[in-house]
Amino acid sequence: MGYETDLKLFIDGAWKSGEDRDIFTVVNPVTAEPIAELPLATAADLDEALEAARRAYPEWRHTDVEKRAAILHKAASLLRQRAEEIGRTLTQEQGKIFAEAKAEVLGSAQLFDWYAEEARRDYGRVLVRPAGQLSRVMHEPVGPVATFTPWNFPIYLLAKKVAAALAAGCSVISKPPEETPGCTQAVARALEDAGLPKGVFQLVHGVPDMVSRHLIASPVIRKVSFTGSIAVGKHLMGLCAESMTRVTLELGGHAPVLIFDDCDLEKTLDMVVPQKFRNAGQVCVSPTRFYVQESIYDAFVKGFAERTQQVKVGNGLDADVKMGPLANQRRPEAIGKLVEDARSRGAKVLAGGEPGDSGYFFKPTLLADVPVEAEIMNQEPFGPVAVSRPFSDMDEAIEQANRLPYGLAAFAFTENGRRANLLGDAIEAGMVGINSFGISVADAPFGGVKDSGFGSEGGKEGLETYQVVKAIHQA
Ligand code: NAD
Repeated sequence: MGYETDLKLFIDGAWKSGEDRDIFTVVNPVTAEPIAELPLATAADLDEALEAARRAYPEWRHTDVEKRAAILHKAASLLRQRAEEIGRTLTQEQGKIFAEAKAEVLGSAQLFDWYAEEARRDYGRVLVRPAGQLSRVMHEPVGPVATFTPWNFPIYLLAKKVAAALAAGCSVISKPPEETPGCTQAVARALEDAGLPKGVFQLVHGVPDMVSRHLIASPVIRKVSFTGSIAVGKHLMGLCAESMTRVTLELGGHAPVLIFDDCDLEKTLDMVVPQKFRNAGQVCVSPTRFYVQESIYDAFVKGFAERTQQVKVGNGLDADVKMGPLANQRRPEAIGKLVEDARSRGAKVLAGGEPGDSGYFFKPTLLADVPVEAEIMNQEPFGPVAVSRPFSDMDEAIEQANRLPYGLAAFAFTENGRRANLLGDAIEAGMVGINSFGISVADAPFGGVKDSGFGSEGGKEGLETYQVVKAIHQA
């Protein structure tokens, strides 16, 4: 089935294209061939969106929470009904396999449902005061929000921000990635069909630097939420400083995985290998730096390499394929350089290590005995590459895990409960998974420390990020 989405901007309740707007060419990463043209927002489009967000905000803010929740639930149900179609669009635009694409749509629906409920249970508090006096703490929506999201989970990362912001009572202008516009347009369609009033949610694709500068400089925007690279995150934080705009930054990671000799080795390998190659490794919490206890290191890398060689790579629409291409041309180029650097410093390539024959493919790769100085031990590869090194004891493992300026996710595999507790405390990361990769769920906070950013998405913390507090004292 071909690509069928007619790509448009969604501003003040109207779908817009043409009219001499510049065009971005959307490419299918399997073939590197163009599949569609996306109109890019002009400065006038952005001004119109800002004005609509400003106008729509007070009404949405004061809309009964039951009604807000009903619209979000309805959008969730429409996403579920349309999951196959949206999933196919996502696979064609981004490359991930269809099963993962459909799961992403369903996970996004869950976020809309969860925040619909959370908004209803968002209470302030009353402070203890003498009779006749009243002091209360109120939660209020922060105001119109601008979101910037990346191409690796274009629907889920958009939904994480938008579901929470809408639940809190904010209006939202979103700039999703230009590479994957059809699937994010489907989120806007679901919200529109669910009855969201015009101007409450808008979609503006464009030249990223132009759009972010324009929106962040506007006094209409009271909060920015960005997911993407550390470099762009720091740049946007600078823009937010100039306009004193609140900001949440969900940036990169370089997740360590500590494998202890008391783990169930076969079970651990069966978990970690598919997880490494999910979405071709383009996951900010992808397990990447494997530190393995010396006594099981050889068995671990052997089992990892065997499983890696069996990962079937191809077009994500084919049912038996387990890993698709990377999302754009930048990724295989960047990963190729990192692998070459590691190889030249003595790392062993136990599987893969090179690009595919066409499109934006890179073979599932395992590097062993990678020196600490290799670039790939220090820079997030954001691709289908696992690197491994042995360690002798827990202190060394923790030191290696915490060595980098990243602090997003970390994982450990051990059957020793006391060790698991100690690791949970000692690892510097926003999320720690012990014998588990289930760290991105609607009801738990998700976010990093150190250079991986700040602010949480998911859980009640995700709602609070779109709120301000006000204390009212009455005598
Ligand atoms: P990039 O730094 O060019 O862009 C990252 C994202 O930010 C993209 O979605 C892009 O559209 C957006 N962006 C870029 N400049 C912007 C600007 N001035 N204003 C607003 N948005 C802007 O990197 P890339 O080549 O697209 O991705 C590679 C790197 O990005 C990876 O190595 C990874 O570290 C990081 N990344 C992280 C995540 C995540 O989930 N945290 C997702 C995607 C990419």
